Amino acid sequence: MTIYQNLIAGEWVGSDATKNINPSDTNEVVGLYADGTVEDTKNAIAAAKAAFPAWSRSGIWERHVILKKAGDEIMARKDELGALLAREEGKTLPEAIGETIRASQIFEFFAGEALRLAGEIVPSVRPDIGVEITRDPLGVIGIITPWNFPIAIPAWKLAPALCYGNTVVFKPAELVPACSWAIVDILNRAGLPKGVLNLVMGRGSVVGQTMLDSPDVSGITFTGSTGTGRRVAAASIEHNRRFQLEMGGKNPMVVLDDADLDVAVEAAANSGFFSTGQRCTASSRLIVTEGIHDKFVAALTAKLETLVVDNAMKSGTHIGPVVDEKQLKTDTDYIEIGRKEGAKLAFGGELIKRETPGFYLQPTLFTEATNQMRISREEIFGPVVSVIRVRDYEEALATANDTPFGLSAGIATTSLKHATHFKRNSEAGMVMVNLPTAGVDFHVPFGGRKGSSYGPREQGKYAAEFYTSVKTAYTLA
Ligand code: NDP
Repeated sequence: MTIYQNLIAGEWVGSDATKNINPSDTNEVVGLYADGTVEDTKNAIAAAKAAFPAWSRSGIWERHVILKKAGDEIMARKDELGALLAREEGKTLPEAIGETIRASQIFEFFAGEALRLAGEIVPSVRPDIGVEITRDPLGVIGIITPWNFPIAIPAWKLAPALCYGNTVVFKPAELVPACSWAIVDILNRAGLPKGVLNLVMGRGSVVGQTMLDSPDVSGITFTGSTGTGRRVAAASIEHNRRFQLEMGGKNPMVVLDDADLDVAVEAAANSGFFSTGQRCTASSRLIVTEGIHDKFVAALTAKLETLVVDNAMKSGTHIGPVVDEKQLKTDTDYIEIGRKEGAKLAFGGELIKRETPGFYLQPTLFTEATNQMRISREEIFGPVVSVIRVRDYEEALATANDTPFGLSAGIATTSLKHATHFKRNSEAGMVMVNLPTAGVDFHVPFGGRKGSSYGPREQGKYAAEFYTSVKTAYTLA
């Protein structure tokens, strides 16, 4: 079998490899992907550092053309790349193709941003002096990504990093190297000079840690768990380097008595269970007022009965498998914890067998949960959702905000007053009214508050805040 190698200083290198296994069919090896070493990572950082002076001064048209070419190729190959994504991560084929399209759109967006780079000229308070405010690239950016969005998250970090003139060392999650390899191959062939983009696949404790320990990495953008995020933060402070963290969530969706029941059930089913609940923006707490509680639970349970859990590649599958055995164990451990804490298992909770061997779990719904239970406070990152009964809107809002996280929050209501109040008073970075908490646009800011995020927002124009450093220059006329 071919080994998909690392890209370091413009050369494909590496002979040791790890198997990429399909979670829908564990007999299938998606491919063999290089297992990077400390030395590979150091070489990649050195190559990115050497390539920075020229790339940071490259023309905006060159950057535009390369990013546009990459976006166009990803779009042209959306079915093939979507299938690769579904096979390595386990989200359904339509979800995977949708994610691939989003990756293409992100490259298109930043291809445009390259042409819109601008600064400001303002008068000084002193006569005859002009002041220019411009943005410089940071230098070498370390990109560390998780497994749950194998093409979109790499895209939303790679595209702005390159657009603003930085060079890159990119380490994808070991579980899902295939889409990252494909995207790097596309960018490399689109014409990036040698060393501007370096890919080092391999273990977080080896490749990721070497990036954290390097004084030559000027910025690290990280998406993943809270625990690893803390390591990124500590190491970055040590090196006085900029960092950006996107971490977990325990996103609430409030359902009020006056909600449109169908809208509320669709939003809850989508954001709780689609993509196997493995989205940082998934709603894992449904906070429901008394008047609609029983009707809502009955309608949601009826909806869950119609959802098909099966091989991600099969047409008609609504929910693919859990990503791997370790995550499946986490999910089933939390189901056991929920039972012991006294929540009522209203639906699911069991492993399922399908034609192909994989990590299949029923969508699982707990009712009679409290906001103090561990299943309501800790991120599970699987298709496991709790319903918390509350008296009224005020208690719902307080419960929604009573969490260490603050990524996304939703409300289902037909009341303009409550929707408006919720948008203003939710302590989350993203708020959805009558929509799932997951599923966001590619051209507007993404990110959270409290324990969910640290540093500037990702995506859209706001991405410039992380990937550039502002310079203020004074000139005597
Ligand atoms: P991890 O934190 O385990 O991994 C994230 C990345 O960090 C991986 O590439 C991993 O490498 C790497 N890594 C691991 N150890 C180190 C280290 N010592 N130094 C540097 N890098 C390291 O998270 P998961 O991949 O398991 O992702 C799931 C988590 O990510 C969930 O908690 C989820 O909520 C969160 N997430 C948050 C999002 C957000 O935008 N807020 C979006 C998506 C996910 P490797 O895997 O190869 O070991």
